[in-house]
Amino acid sequence: MVQLFVPLNFLGFVYREIRRSLTDMAKMFGLLEKNASISDAPTAQTLTTKAASVSFDHVQFGYGEKRRILNDVSFEIPAGRKLAVVGPSGAGKSTLARLLFRFYDAQGGSVRVDGVDIRQLSQDSLRAHIGVVPQDTVLFNDTIFYNIQYGRPDASREEVEHAARLAHLDAFIRQLPDGYETAVGERGLKLSGGEKQRVAIARALLKNPAIMIFDEATSSLDSGSEQAILGALREVAQRRTTLVIAHRLSTITDADEIILLDQGRIQERGTHESLLAAGGAYARLWQMQQTHPTEEK
Ligand code: ATP
Repeated sequence: MVQLFVPLNFLGFVYREIRRSLTDMAKMFGLLEKNASISDAPTAQTLTTKAASVSFDHVQFGYGEKRRILNDVSFEIPAGRKLAVVGPSGAGKSTLARLLFRFYDAQGGSVRVDGVDIRQLSQDSLRAHIGVVPQDTVLFNDTIFYNIQYGRPDASREEVEHAARLAHLDAFIRQLPDGYETAVGERGLKLSGGEKQRVAIARALLKNPAIMIFDEATSSLDSGSEQAILGALREVAQRRTTLVIAHRLSTITDADEIILLDQGRIQERGTHESLLAAGGAYARLWQMQQTHPTEEK
């Protein structure tokens, strides 16, 4: 009995781990399976870092042979800093995130974490250091507590509640009929897009990764929800190397660097202030969003 119990328990753990790493990723990257062409190098190193820098060095990439999606893209996010990427739909913004997570390899140039080409790192150790807040978060048909704890299954109740507070979710949860025990998901309470994104932020806070990828939802949020997400995002980005894929420029005015990507090329780069002063495409987009706040791009 004991012998049977251990492997079953272990299998359950493995299943949960696999499911955990796949669901949000699959949702974000539109993939349900790992890309079979990506494998660990025989000499793959284990990434161990508390504060990682990220750099893209002359990166070229296309999903197929015919079409280049990224052209000579270079940037650096120093450890603990925030870089935001903006640009029209199809510009290649999410592709940057997929390359950093190593769902695909760059075809030219390199992606580096702490100066090491990520092809020289084990995939597991790389991904263990990256938290992802996708546009659309998968919720399980379980309690909201379980859905947050999923970020780190061994987290204590205090840790889950602390993460929920930082993610600006705690007050919302406490006014639910069963508080943290309220069932959510398809067969429970439906959460709004903004609430789901805050669940993803709370999960990411529990995982406590050195690198964060935040893919801002394109759907328009009411301003209360947007403010709550902004506050939560600031919390999650604190002291972490953060890549934000943004649709609303109002959420990234504090980024250390903003790059405007169009057709896979960096067209403009700088801080919010310097880009506004330059009076180019970013400044025009800003003007447009100020006049029509519901327009996303
Ligand atoms: P959005 O703001 O709409 O999310 P994006 O800037 O994030 O757009 P990407 O998702 O990076 O754009 O896609 C860039 C281009 O690559 C698009 O033209 C898209 O159709 C194409 N693309 C994305 N994923 C794949 C794929 N798996 N296979 C082939 N082409 C793809």
